[in-house]
Amino acid sequence: MGKPIILTGDRPTGKLHVGHYVGSVKNRVLLQNENKYDMFIFLADQQALTDNAKNPEKIIESVGEVALDYLAVGLDPKKATIFLQSQIPELAELTVYYMNLVSVARLQRNPTVKTEIAQKGFGESIPTGFLVYPISQAADITAFKANLVPAGSDQKPMIEQTREIVRSFNHTYKTDVLVEPEGLFPENEAAGRLPGLDGNAKMSKSLNNGIYLADDPDTLKKKIMSMYTDPNHIRVEDPGQIEGNMVFHYLDVFGKKEDKAEIERMKEQYQKGGLGDVKTKRFLLDIMERELAPIRNRRLEFAKDMGEVYRMLEKGSEKAREKAAQTLSEVKSAMGINYFNKL
Ligand code: ATP
Ligand code: MG
Repeated sequence: MGKPIILTGDRPTGKLHVGHYVGSVKNRVLLQNENKYDMFIFLADQQALTDNAKNPEKIIESVGEVALDYLAVGLDPKKATIFLQSQIPELAELTVYYMNLVSVARLQRNPTVKTEIAQKGFGESIPTGFLVYPISQAADITAFKANLVPAGSDQKPMIEQTREIVRSFNHTYKTDVLVEPEGLFPENEAAGRLPGLDGNAKMSKSLNNGIYLADDPDTLKKKIMSMYTDPNHIRVEDPGQIEGNMVFHYLDVFGKKEDKAEIERMKEQYQKGGLGDVKTKRFLLDIMERELAPIRNRRLEFAKDMGEVYRMLEKGSEKAREKAAQTLSEVKSAMGINYFNKL
């Protein structure tokens, strides 16, 4: 038996934000460095085009940006295969076969897709590709026979959809070619779905409510200072609410063990009254700057040679394609449509 396989990825719809970092990327680096897994990490540019077909420039530019984010956080092409979805046509081919196993009604029930459709204001004009993206995600996961998929909690319905497709395929074609994956979600609930700065929706590249790994110190400061707190906490002496207060939410997510005692003390004081928002925000800024500064600096270093970054993606894509082609060939054999191999 080989090592367990991990597959995980991001849509190149913008630079990576700190929601990605705490929800998924940080965990990936830890898993990568354990050396216990065969790891595939990819940029889902084809999926990103399902809701950005009319502005492909954004996706094309973001490919380089997200690749830089990967390298900056410590993902390492020597230890993990990093690839670009659109360069692996086998994934699209698998999607086509899986589409026949999933009803339109099933796709329309997917709660994450439902939320996204409302956020994007598609109305009656949902692009077909967008509605079926959970199926293409199943193709991505199964092409690599992934056992584990580390992701944020918005991805739970996608993993469930994938598991259903695997069971349906294996049952229909009387095979065990496809592997049922497990999702791997952050233990810290507050990190599994980090809200945006305004406290409304989850932090999303597409909603422009985020702190990016690439943000310079000034931008980071401005964003933290404008964060949503308790609108009724007007004077320092007023008692304040910590529920729904983004500063305390972020402190719970980004505070290290050694910060916990101080965070608890601040929560108490804030609720009683006598602690101002500026103080809590400064404290959060210090904590986040400590974590983000080294990432930002490494990012600037890697950005000096973008040619090298794209060559890394090219090599990774070649390697990933071999694996996906192997699975596709097994899938077609299981279905009996490998006509010429039977000659
Ligand atoms: P888009 O708005 O284009 O969908 P996104 O910000 O949702 O972008 P994705 O590329 O869709 O980012 O998600 C990549 C990974 O990051 C997924 O595993 C997802 O669950 C996780 N993730 C995204 N946003 C958050 C968040 N706010 N908190 C925790 N994890 C997140
Ligand atoms: Mg998303």
